[in-house]
Amino acid sequence: MSQNTETIFSKIIRKEIPANIVYEDDLSLAFTDINPQAPVHILIIPKKPIVNLATAEPEDQALLGHLLLTAQKVAAQAGLENGYRVVINTGIDGGQTVYHLHIHILGRRPMTWPPG
Ligand code: AMP
Repeated sequence: MSQNTETIFSKIIRKEIPANIVYEDDLSLAFTDINPQAPVHILIIPKKPIVNLATAEPEDQALLGHLLLTAQKVAAQAGLENGYRVVINTGIDGGQTVYHLHIHILGRRPMTWPPG
């Protein structure tokens, strides 16, 4: 799959469609999920159009680390001191629906295991 695939998230990055943006820096953007699965449900995305974790490259190592630390920051900002679930759906079996890498942060309710 092309690394340049245009998705709904590309439009959010370019501010062409509205999103409730809760954090932004040079490399990443975080916004609330339009269909929340928990009282707090935030997506963290790289501005670089990486399709998913399976297609990330060794050159993305620092960016991937940055996204996880951004997730930590966003979770703290959202007041999730009791913990939270971090999810990266990848590909068909992973349940990925938007093909632009994103980290889900889910919180403010107890999570169950295994996930569905
Ligand atoms: P995934 O199924 O892991 O690919 O997750 C994609 C997520 O993007 C879903 O949880 C959707 O609810 C969310 N989503 C899709 N379109 C938008 C949008 N315009 N704004 C915010 N979240 C969105």
